[in-house]
Amino acid sequence: MTKQREKLQLPDHANKLLLHSCCAPCSGEVMEALIESEIDFSIFFYNPNIHPVKEYLIRKEENIRFAEKHHIPFIDCDYDTDNWFARAKGMEDEPEKGIRCTMCFDMRFERTALYAHEHGFKVISSSLGISRWKNMKQINDCGIRAASHYPDMMYWDYNWRKNGGANRMIEISKREEFYQQEYCGCVYSLRDTNRWRMSNGRDRIKLGVKFYSAMSDES
Ligand code: SF4
Repeated sequence: MTKQREKLQLPDHANKLLLHSCCAPCSGEVMEALIESEIDFSIFFYNPNIHPVKEYLIRKEENIRFAEKHHIPFIDCDYDTDNWFARAKGMEDEPEKGIRCTMCFDMRFERTALYAHEHGFKVISSSLGISRWKNMKQINDCGIRAASHYPDMMYWDYNWRKNGGANRMIEISKREEFYQQEYCGCVYSLRDTNRWRMSNGRDRIKLGVKFYSAMSDES
């Protein structure tokens, strides 16, 4: 049975949080944990890495649906893919968790920190680290680096996976029947995941067709 959540408090006695969100499945548990702890927060959706636009819109709409359900402010930021591809130039064949991903997290957190600075948020965090597929230290290093550009800003490196958070992430995804993305997000992760699937006798990814359900095999 999944453990209970602990009561959360923002660092430095801050009164509100800007939460960068990558998608509904990753942010579902983070959002419910913050709501349960009565923490004031807004969702910041800035993910120009996601390709193609069809996939981007599905992931974003799922996140908006869940935010609206809980009356959480949702900030829909730019889909400035040209900038993302410009920064990814030369890193097209890097593996996941490598330097392209550091660039990708840096870019998303830099924009989050800028918005936080301009709108009076002293603390930022992200749902990215809850996924077991990600390197939490790599994400935290990027978040801390982005926040360090502003005096008095802090990246909250809370471990959202602990105390059963990683399990609840799946439970919530099933309960809410979230869209189940099958690759990290960028065109290169789509390419590499398809290559892996084909070399293992599986079909290529079909966008927009897979949703979590009580019957989903992921646990
Ligand atoms: S694999 Fe994921 S984290 Fe890495 S560059 Fe692509 S979208 Fe960004």
